[in-house]
Amino acid sequence: MSEEKVPCVPGLFSEENGVARVHGSRCTGCGTPYFPRSAACHNPDCSGSRMEECSYGGAGRLWSFSVADFPPPPPHKYDKPFVPYAIGVVDLDCGLRMIGQMVDQPSDLTVDARVELVIDTLYHEDGKAFTSWKFRQLAADAARSH
Ligand SMILES: [Zn+2]
Repeated sequence: MSEEKVPCVPGLFSEENGVARVHGSRCTGCGTPYFPRSAACHNPDCSGSRMEECSYGGAGRLWSFSVADFPPPPPHKYDKPFVPYAIGVVDLDCGLRMIGQMVDQPSDLTVDARVELVIDTLYHEDGKAFTSWKFRQLAADAARSH
């Protein structure tokens, strides 16, 4: 029996048929992607600032990462005992730069590796699994085939 999965923040991301997406916006004037949604375009070279909703996902490149080796302060929640995790900065192929927790152990990560957006459990509470977007490093074989 699988546990009930609940997004830690409603409306920010979704997973359908195993495909993870984050819900942001995009300027139709200059094409700049935003996540979370932005009410206006912040590109100084853009005179349009016409925003539309847009969702993002797929693969990208791990630009850099940092290791959280101590528990986050309240109100952040995590499963105990605390296990250190990596926080990655990822350039998605669509042009969006995002920050997200990495599924992989920090020692397994390689800067510049191919990664993909996933939805994964952040913590458990009241018998439910609360989820968020994260990134998973793709196998080297998969990275070469892209
Ligand atoms: Zn713009």
